Amino acid sequence: MDNIKKKRFKQLKKSHAWVSIVLFVIFAIILAASAVAFIAQFIVYTSESKIHDEYLEAVNLGRMYEVGNSEGDGIYKYLDATGRSYVIFAEDGTELHRSGSINVNGTERTLTVRAASDDVKILRENDVWIFSDNGDGTASLNMFGVIGAMKREAELKEDDDEEYEDEDLRDLVRENRDVINLPFLIEAPAGSGRIAVQASMTFRMKDVDLFLTILSVISALTFVVFVTLLINIISGALRRRRTLNVFFTDIVTNGHNWMWLLIKGHGILKKMKNRPLRYAVIDLVFVNYRNFCACHSVAEGEKMLRLVYETINKSMTSREMCVHVTSSHFAVVMAFSDKEALESRVKTLISVLEGISPGRRISFHAGIDIIEPEGTVMPDGKVLRRKDLDLELEHNKACTARSTLEASDDSGVAFFDEKLVEEQKWKEAVQERQASALANEEFVVYYQPKYDPTTDRLKGAEALIRWQSPEFGFVPPGRIIPIFEKNGFITEIDHYMITHVARDQKAWLDRGFNCVPVSVNVSRAHFIESDLAEQIRDMVDAAGCPHNYIEIELTESAFFDDKKAMISTIAKLKEYGFAVSMDDFGSGYSSLNSLKDMPLDVLKLDAEFFRGKSEDGRGEIVVAEAIRLAKSLNMRTVAEGVEIRDQVDFLAAQGCDMIQGYFYAKPMPGADFEQRMKDGVKQKE
Ligand code: C2E
Ligand code: CA
Ligand code: CA
Repeated sequence: MDNIKKKRFKQLKKSHAWVSIVLFVIFAIILAASAVAFIAQFIVYTSESKIHDEYLEAVNLGRMYEVGNSEGDGIYKYLDATGRSYVIFAEDGTELHRSGSINVNGTERTLTVRAASDDVKILRENDVWIFSDNGDGTASLNMFGVIGAMKREAELKEDDDEEYEDEDLRDLVRENRDVINLPFLIEAPAGSGRIAVQASMTFRMKDVDLFLTILSVISALTFVVFVTLLINIISGALRRRRTLNVFFTDIVTNGHNWMWLLIKGHGILKKMKNRPLRYAVIDLVFVNYRNFCACHSVAEGEKMLRLVYETINKSMTSREMCVHVTSSHFAVVMAFSDKEALESRVKTLISVLEGISPGRRISFHAGIDIIEPEGTVMPDGKVLRRKDLDLELEHNKACTARSTLEASDDSGVAFFDEKLVEEQKWKEAVQERQASALANEEFVVYYQPKYDPTTDRLKGAEALIRWQSPEFGFVPPGRIIPIFEKNGFITEIDHYMITHVARDQKAWLDRGFNCVPVSVNVSRAHFIESDLAEQIRDMVDAAGCPHNYIEIELTESAFFDDKKAMISTIAKLKEYGFAVSMDDFGSGYSSLNSLKDMPLDVLKLDAEFFRGKSEDGRGEIVVAEAIRLAKSLNMRTVAEGVEIRDQVDFLAAQGCDMIQGYFYAKPMPGADFEQRMKDGVKQKE
């Protein structure tokens, strides 16, 4: 699997709910903590400023006492007039005076609270729990204590709900009900002794309500955020699940897809219990799928693909899998122990698949790549262990094996071997270089002379391509022409060859050589072009070569394509003065029918006629009759691939016009061919 795919998958897997949950918890904590901190800060600030006010009051009383004390007990009158409850203690702690209701006996523990700017000493009293004892003689304002006390006071006042006749009195009660006092004792210096004053923190009910409202709003907000986030997390998790499903589902078959195979397949290969098993990765293709869709419909075609998918899956075990990859391709991971058994299982599967749609002819190609338990030997000789191997690469090998079956429309099975990779690499290398090779004139024209077997005179030649590659050296056409035929570059090659042959001929004619017609191969791919004859004429004219020095060779298999177009092209070529020959006559396809329709000039008997020895002389009969047939149709004959003298003599006796074979000459560079033209006659050895 490539890195992008891996990354995508990891992203999908990684974006787990955990991240959201953790983020959510952190967020909720921060939100709640800041709400609490805000309220605490607010309460502490208001409370502390109130404590500070009360402390200043106590200090004032203490000063008053200190100043007035020298004038005797009369001072108490002034102190009492403040309306405060207080106790004056002498330096030794004895109580000197007490006023109002105050519950302090001088043994109370004192605590210090930091209020606004001064340290305020407070005395422990029943209600002092609004402060919490720090245990070291200091106290902190207890925010929850304050709120609790406020609530408790407010409740106590609720009960006090009598109706008062007098309006003023009622207002007073109501006003009083609106105020909450939280009492505590506060101590300040008073002369040489000290004064303990009954102090209280006063809050208006409105303030309490405000606190509570703010608190409720913050709680409500926190709750809303909490619920929103929770919904988000849950819907996110569901979405992820759906995404994962989409990620692994094939839309045509509704089954699993390629990504799933890559991930799960790797898992299967790695599984402990599967380790001893041999595995095969198979590229299975519904060969005539495109035709099937064209004849029926794409919907029908996809229905077939679903049927194929289901049929294959029925035969899979839990240790195997099959997915639909794209259009007509299926990838199968199959366990097996014996190669023959595997092949026969795949063949059986194919024959079952061929029968899924009775009355319709459908076929399948299977490319098989084998993964041994010990892993795969890489081209550099290293062994890649099975747990490390790349299923995509293995599938690619299966595809390479399958592509060797492409030429046939019938069902078939092919196994991968490393030679195929070499071929594939070669193909890539050729394709990469073809354009520059053409531009740099790396393709060279070789000429193979054709001789008259009765006179041994040079009568013609065939132009054959060679690739003089700076990188790969001398490359014969068999290694490049099939590639060019497949990728369409062959038409460029044909142009190149016609142009170069025409130029050579023109130059030789100008130099006074005894020139002979040279035939050039024109690929069947080229015959699709309706103006092919004109193209050839123009190229030859551009080189200034007379048309009768160029002959066009058509391979026999081309005659099965568009017959009408072919006949018209041949007619035009002949009209322009080019001879046209049928190449490889007798190889593979029966072309007698073509002979009937095509007005050809030359029949080239395929080299296969002269391979091996036919014991009972049947081969000779066929050749003799083919020559006779050609003569009756007013065609000249050329025998290709003739290597033996007996064959030359036989062909001469049968009236064969020319021989193109190693017996006379191998294909040769233009310079050597010049010598042949000069010589004219080649004596039989
Ligand atoms: P072909 O057109 O049938 O060419 C004849 C092939 O038979 C040549 O192979 C030639 O070297 C070989 N041959 C001739 N006499 C003998 C013999 O006595 N014994 C043996 N063993 N072989 C003999 P070559 O040059 O390797 O070409 C192979 C094929 O490549 C050609 O078969 C043709 O199909 C294709 N080809 C070559 N040049 C071109 C080209 O310029 N254009 C196209 N379209 N195809 C070309
Ligand atoms: Ca040929
Ligand atoms: Ca031939």
